[in-house]
Amino acid sequence: WDETWDVVVIGSGFAGLAAAAEAAGGGAKVIILEKMPTYGGNSIINGGEYNSWDDQLHLREKLQLGEDSVELHKNDTLKGGDFYSFPELVEVFVNGATPALNWMIEEGGCKLRNILNRTGGHSAYRTHTNVEGVGRGYTEPLKKIAESRGAKIRLNTKLTWIWRRDADSQSPIEGVEVVTGRKTVNIRIGKALIMASGGFGRDKKMLREYNPGILDEYNCTNHPGATGETIRMAQAIGADSLQLAFIQLYPYAAPDTGILDVPAIYPFRGPGYGIVYVNKLGKRFVNEMERRDVVSMAQIKTKMKPTYSLFCEAMIPKMGTKEEVEKGIAKGRFVKADTMTELAQKLGIPADSLGETIRNHNRYMAEGKDPEFGRQFTKVMIPLTEGPFYAVAQWPAVHHTMGGLRINKDAQVIDIWGKVIPCFYAAGEVTGGVHGANRLGGNAIPDAIAFGRMAGTNAAKEKRRT
Ligand code: ADP
Repeated sequence: WDETWDVVVIGSGFAGLAAAAEAAGGGAKVIILEKMPTYGGNSIINGGEYNSWDDQLHLREKLQLGEDSVELHKNDTLKGGDFYSFPELVEVFVNGATPALNWMIEEGGCKLRNILNRTGGHSAYRTHTNVEGVGRGYTEPLKKIAESRGAKIRLNTKLTWIWRRDADSQSPIEGVEVVTGRKTVNIRIGKALIMASGGFGRDKKMLREYNPGILDEYNCTNHPGATGETIRMAQAIGADSLQLAFIQLYPYAAPDTGILDVPAIYPFRGPGYGIVYVNKLGKRFVNEMERRDVVSMAQIKTKMKPTYSLFCEAMIPKMGTKEEVEKGIAKGRFVKADTMTELAQKLGIPADSLGETIRNHNRYMAEGKDPEFGRQFTKVMIPLTEGPFYAVAQWPAVHHTMGGLRINKDAQVIDIWGKVIPCFYAAGEVTGGVHGANRLGGNAIPDAIAFGRMAGTNAAKEKRRT
């Protein structure tokens, strides 16, 4: 062995940072190993949408956005994943969502925006956004907490092997092999290994192998390090994996590149405030309140790339900020026009058809009934009657891999015989069974952070073996 640490965390996203913070808080000597030259993985670049039924500011009550509860969040999540997820795992993160959010606010200096969104598949306004408007608004607070408690982060350091003497159920994890630059280093683990290495959205071979329906031509929203080698390493020492075929497309990515930048978050934030999706013929093609898998499939079925999200000036402060929209216009992602006819012309959509679609949708909203797609309306939704109007182009791209390592509610990794692998925890996108067939938008962050905290807390409690 070249060195020894109590707790080794693989990956520096939400799950890894939260795990390291709690393990260090529990008195363990903790190191995070990150293969990329920068910290944060997909977490730092993601949309920053965080579902929690409540928060210490009580935003939902303050903004008078109706009712919510942990139970409702749990039921939406189970239904949204077609009941393929494990209720005891869902409970960990819906219960842990509010305390984790408050923890980041109190100890990490996280700042929330004064808005709440209702997003596809959710029956309540529970999606929080931070002032940075992206995941960094949570990774920085988590990093601050972890480092203030003494956890270290080592970049450019890739996990290449996990050491376990036997695959029999008594045998604990002993250490890991990592490569830093050209150097191979073996690290002995005193307490536990925590796998927080994210998903495999960038691993074409794994995508193809587990789900041939995910075509090679699809773009991907992920950072380049989202490759699944750690799943294979865990499998090699006996870990079980599940639901690897469940791969999510994000419906609103930039059509040419697959980038999930700030403009691509607006179509996701907007359904609860009345945003409308149309195809190139100016027709609606789906219920905007639907889940990501449903919206993505409806887009693909239009056979007309791209589709567009339409919103108006009055919706902007509900979904984000004017500065974000201005920046998006400068980038060429948002298209702005004073009238619907002018917007149609700018997008190359037949203006008559778009006008009729929007007039119909406005009427449905006023009447409270959508005979075409069954959209449910709420009293805070805004009709597209007054300009300026905005559009953003969107197309599905590979986004989240719902399958992964099998864990229990204590974040312990389970082997292929159903037994706990001693001294081995996992949290975040690398795990499976938390979201079922489809992850609801905004559930990934509380999942990764709640399970990260669980893994870190439990890892620190392991008996030191060195
Ligand atoms: P989560 O949201 O589950 O925390 P992220 O994608 O945000 O997932 O973070 C996972 C991190 O793990 C990424 O920064 C990624 O580069 C890192 N990672 C993936 N595989 C390895 C590996 N073999 N060795 C070290 N770090 C890894």
